[in-house]
Amino acid sequence: MILRYARQAHGDREIVSRLIDEPLWRYNYAGLADRVEQAAKALLRLGVKPGDRVTTLAWNTHRHLEVFYAVTGLGAVLHTANPRLSDEQIAYTINHAGSGVLLYDRNLAAVVERLKPQLPQVGIFVSLTAQPLDDATLCYEDLIGAESGPLEWPVFGENAAAFLCYTSGTTGDPKGVLYSHRAIVLHAMGAGLNAAFGFTAFDVVMPCSSLYHATAWGLPFVAPVCGAKLVLPGDKMDGASLHRLIVDEGVTFTGGVPTIWTMYLAYLDQIGERPGNLKRVMIGGSAVPRAMAASFKQKYEVETLQIWGMTETTPLGVIASPTPQLAALGEEEMQEVIWSRQGRLQFGIELRIVDEGGSPVAWDGGTPGALQVRGPWVVQRYFRQDKDAADAEGWFDTGDVATIDKRGFMRITDRTKDVIKSGGEWISSIDLENFAAGCPGVKIAAVVAAHHPKWEERPILIIETHDGATVSKADVLAYLEPKIVKWWTPDDVIFASIPLTATGKIDKKVLRRTYRDHLTAPS
Ligand code: ADP
Repeated sequence: MILRYARQAHGDREIVSRLIDEPLWRYNYAGLADRVEQAAKALLRLGVKPGDRVTTLAWNTHRHLEVFYAVTGLGAVLHTANPRLSDEQIAYTINHAGSGVLLYDRNLAAVVERLKPQLPQVGIFVSLTAQPLDDATLCYEDLIGAESGPLEWPVFGENAAAFLCYTSGTTGDPKGVLYSHRAIVLHAMGAGLNAAFGFTAFDVVMPCSSLYHATAWGLPFVAPVCGAKLVLPGDKMDGASLHRLIVDEGVTFTGGVPTIWTMYLAYLDQIGERPGNLKRVMIGGSAVPRAMAASFKQKYEVETLQIWGMTETTPLGVIASPTPQLAALGEEEMQEVIWSRQGRLQFGIELRIVDEGGSPVAWDGGTPGALQVRGPWVVQRYFRQDKDAADAEGWFDTGDVATIDKRGFMRITDRTKDVIKSGGEWISSIDLENFAAGCPGVKIAAVVAAHHPKWEERPILIIETHDGATVSKADVLAYLEPKIVKWWTPDDVIFASIPLTATGKIDKKVLRRTYRDHLTAPS
């Protein structure tokens, strides 16, 4: 439906894709629709049937995008495996999905070779390349080059499953979340609203969120619905590679996790250039450091659009877009609100915060509660689990702790398991990290709880500095002092490299394990 519309309404709008060791690829939505038909015919020939699972292990390229539409258009389910997970986890997700076909990028061939013995159900391996990698594997361009002519697409119900995405498994085994066609389309319509991403046909959109992680935040569907030009950056998310595409292709909107923008801002500083025609950058997955939003705005006039979401919410939950009421407070105050909140109520998603007994907590902007969400693109039950993930009324507990103010702006104060409980009071690790990230020389700041004999838990601040920066514990504490209440002051500041998860977030699980006994262990 999305592709049919894009072909008719925006057929000549361009798509540009960086590939793995191949030149830049250019075509348009009409070209995409044609090749998707060929890819679907090739998949049919390989025996793919409605309901079958097909896995990709691939980056942000046009071939991956074609597989998105071809597999789901056939009524089969596309499982987008995350190449940044460990071998065991990748194999676990492919086996759990029950996929019979695996399509993968050239630079992941070694991973596939290693995994093959652990994937008894996968009978067909296809490299997403122009030339065959070896005699034993099928090659995508060969397969689709052998097909031609239009395809009679099958008809199926809107509740049929389209995508299968696994959470990163920061706690326990990854869990599978199915997105139905209905959820994908409604999510694309909701995200396309002016109050959300608000693209027009003049926008040039570059998803730096991965196609394998919650379908790149829905951008491959929102862009064609709005007729925006699409730029796919392949696997290269470093500052120089992104900058080339942003400038050369006239990117106006991009989105990704904070770590990518830390690198990009550092790169811009280093080369002393502006980010072309970039107008808005959508940031989510973890809290946006205030300093990052301020740099984008003050140095480059680029607006930050913070979003909050989860794999379980397809992923858009809330988005921090301005309102006339806020604008009336003046630019500066409006920015303060927007930069410090994850977002406000988004059409399609209901929010509530509840106390430990499950009763709703007031929307006063100060009282935290467990955040629950409900809506047509929120998970009801994990794939292959007997128990519903949401309650009987459809409320899904996110595992986040948040406050909501009268205007419906939500602020995540922590993940339930990251909250630091000091003397019975809660300290927000996210707030502390956010402040510390603004200290000159600091690249990434992470705060975790350490056991404390008197207070139960106390915060420990771990800092990774920018290359060549010299920052001391005293510098950091002096920087924090005027910004926080005294009892929030970290009990120690440690300089170390910070581990990241498969989705580029601070790996709190590892840090908690490392520093849990930091304050009590004999030195
Ligand atoms: P995983 O943790 O398995 O990678 P997700 O990618 O689905 O799973 O992450 C969802 C979680 O990420 C949310 O529950 C929340 O804790 C965190 N998150 C997402 N966006 C934001 C944001 N803007 N600010 C703070 N935390 C966020």
